[in-house]
Amino acid sequence: MSVCANHNWLPAEGSCARCRQAFCGGCLAPLLDQPYCGNCRAAKLAEIQGGDNRVFSGARRRKTAVASALIAVAIIVGPILVGLLLMNILRSLGMASLGMVFPAVGMVVGIMGGILAIARVALLGNTAVRRDVAAKLAAGGVPPAALSGSLIGLSVGPERRQWDGDTDWDVGFLSLEPGKMVFFGDQIWFGLRPDQLHWAELDPPKDGGAFVEVRLKMGWHDAHTGHSGILSLAIRDFRNRAEARRKLTDLRARLEAWRGQPAAVPDYWLPLPPVVVPGGTGLPAMVQDSGAFWRYLLICIVLSVVGAVAFAALQVVTGIRVPMPVVIAVTLVTSYLVSMGVEALIRSSRR
Ligand SMILES: [Zn+2]
Ligand SMILES: [Zn+2]
Repeated sequence: MSVCANHNWLPAEGSCARCRQAFCGGCLAPLLDQPYCGNCRAAKLAEIQGGDNRVFSGARRRKTAVASALIAVAIIVGPILVGLLLMNILRSLGMASLGMVFPAVGMVVGIMGGILAIARVALLGNTAVRRDVAAKLAAGGVPPAALSGSLIGLSVGPERRQWDGDTDWDVGFLSLEPGKMVFFGDQIWFGLRPDQLHWAELDPPKDGGAFVEVRLKMGWHDAHTGHSGILSLAIRDFRNRAEARRKLTDLRARLEAWRGQPAAVPDYWLPLPPVVVPGGTGLPAMVQDSGAFWRYLLICIVLSVVGAVAFAALQVVTGIRVPMPVVIAVTLVTSYLVSMGVEALIRSSRR
């Protein structure tokens, strides 16, 4: 009779799917329905997750971010160029002061268009990411049924941040089974039981308009280790913000129903979710809440008018004609700086 490789006084109850050695029941733990010894289970998890093996790598994120930024700039600059063209036409018709209005209007239209388009542009290359992540996970042994849902973006912590131009730290698939939830990601895998999920709320709670990314925040706590944290999920397959919100509302309802179920396998263990993740930089307030966005737009409009008048006055008084691109650049940068100052003031007055 064979005995456990760790405990030679105990009879073997099975063998590890990786090293093939015999172990007692206490030494074997399941991963994707296969039994593993402790070392092999950790090695298998490390093999499938993250490391150098990342599909949605920093380089790929940066490439996508640069491409979407170029498209966004084209959308923003287009109407401004049309405005400049109209201005020159009107000037040649002897209506120079009326013509000054058009570049300002073009700038407002361009910024609005850019921010409206950003939701779609930010998902550039998403189909390929989904395909590649799914292929990698399938090769790692994840059952196909777990890879059929929406591609989920994962971020960690209460604040919104970005990693190499993307608001998700990891991407993957969420599998909701009776008694357990598993996230199969490009970088990380983790599981939660119904009793470990404490709350799930949409962020922002009400429709934040086309400009603010909608996310589902979840608070979890593990009584055994005392660890707790906040996960923030996004749906990466959507046509517009309303569809993203609908899908996340559905997911929240499914999570609430799931939370009421007993844990099917009480001792089932997968790694807990990360409490913090490395890196990441903050996001400007205007893409975090719609109030901040409208304030930013208002600042842009006011400063465009003020700028147009001021530069026109400068020309009348001193004869110096400032080139229009400089006027636009100064107005955009000033609007952004004023917006940051205003949001900082609002935040400090709320405290
Ligand atoms: Zn083993
Ligand atoms: Zn043993």
